[in-house]
Amino acid sequence: MISQDSKYRIRHDRPNCIGCSACASIAPKFWEMSDLDGKSDVIGSKMGEDGLEEMEISEEDFQCNLDAAEACPVNVIHLIQIGDNKQII
Ligand code: SF4
Repeated sequence: MISQDSKYRIRHDRPNCIGCSACASIAPKFWEMSDLDGKSDVIGSKMGEDGLEEMEISEEDFQCNLDAAEACPVNVIHLIQIGDNKQII
């Protein structure tokens, strides 16, 4: 999902997700658990050849995804500031 006001990019290192479901509990609008393998997915994201899921989000959706990233016990949720390509987490 790419919109004009996208400010951040979620990058989910899905192969290393342990399926704890913290992200889906904290930010269910963006994260859901897969029935196939028990890992989480970023709803509406695109998956690259490296298995990483990516999706752009706007400023207003930053905080709940930051909360999800900070709660992830294996640090596989990253947020990148678009523009200067700075990794926030
Ligand atoms: S919080 Fe991290 S490990 Fe847990 S389901 Fe979400 S991405 Fe996977």
